[in-house]
Amino acid sequence: MLAIACIKQVPDTTQVQIDPVTNTLIRDGIPFIINPYDTHALEESLRLKDQYGATVVVLTMGPPNAEAALRKALALGVDRAILLSDRVFGGADTLATSNVLTAAIRKLAEEDEVGFVLCGKQTIDGDTAQVGPGIATRMEMEQLTLVDRVENVDFNAKKTTVRRKLEGRYERVESKLPAMITVVREINRPRYPTVPMRLASRNAKVEVWDNNVLKLDVSTIGLKGSPTWVSKIFSPERDKGEIIGDGLTKPQETAQLLIDKLLEKDLLSI
Ligand SMILES: Cc1cc2nc3c(=O)[nH]c(=O)nc-3n(C[C@H](O)[C@H](O)[C@H](O)COP(=O)(O)OP(=O)(O)OC[C@H]3O[C@@H](n4cnc5c(N)ncnc54)[C@H](O)[C@@H]3O)c2cc1C
Repeated sequence: MLAIACIKQVPDTTQVQIDPVTNTLIRDGIPFIINPYDTHALEESLRLKDQYGATVVVLTMGPPNAEAALRKALALGVDRAILLSDRVFGGADTLATSNVLTAAIRKLAEEDEVGFVLCGKQTIDGDTAQVGPGIATRMEMEQLTLVDRVENVDFNAKKTTVRRKLEGRYERVESKLPAMITVVREINRPRYPTVPMRLASRNAKVEVWDNNVLKLDVSTIGLKGSPTWVSKIFSPERDKGEIIGDGLTKPQETAQLLIDKLLEKDLLSI
């Protein structure tokens, strides 16, 4: 049974700045990392391998340098790493990205049964949280978002029970398999690669699938297959902060002042 983890290489947004003239991201010299939520999706897929014997495949769609993300995944113990890369995949919005990832998952499903597709809750650059549900819809799979615990898996009965972390409450859901789950950070603590695994990953095989392999209609992928585009990107203007009271020597008075101000602006109710 396959557990397929989808990971995206993203710029480390803690270091990204916006060009105030062109309103575009300044990407030069910015290091790339695996989208933080996806490191948890990867870890959960490895737990499905450790506990239930799943075979883990990791997929990423991106330019050739996204191979680095896959090598990190190989160092953690995934069974197979596939880079979906082709010029015609470039400029994809979430719809076109979902089309490419779905085609790859369908191809894997011809070889082995798919149990889980695991995605992060969202990315830290695009932030749309659409790709996971986009894959589930196209694959006609169960869709379990915001999962913070996989409580049970029964590959024979093709069933799973997960807990979803919602606003102020949890939801326990029983679902059939295959299922697509998107995970939140609380689901697990990602493992570190061992030194031997890190060394072995340097020479491990990364498969590259281009559109000769996926054979997708070019009007459904990349820029041509992307009906949405970002017209402008900008930093929100912030109101200047205000220092109130003296929190160091008069904490209670300052707290009262803060409460009064919040009440005044309708930001607090008692
Ligand atoms: C600033 C900015 C501007 C952009 N401008 C445009 C534009 O003008 N036109 C355009 O067509 N596109 C544009 N894109 C690209 C595109 O919109 C998204 O980056 C891409 O489609 C994925 O969406 P997302 O990052 O919101 O993923 P989300 O839906 O938030 O991702 C959810 C999960 O899906 C999986 N996933 C997402 N992407 C991948 C991937 N590539 N490989 C493997 N797994 C993945 C991961 O598990 C991830 O955690 C832009 C992106 C950014 C950041």
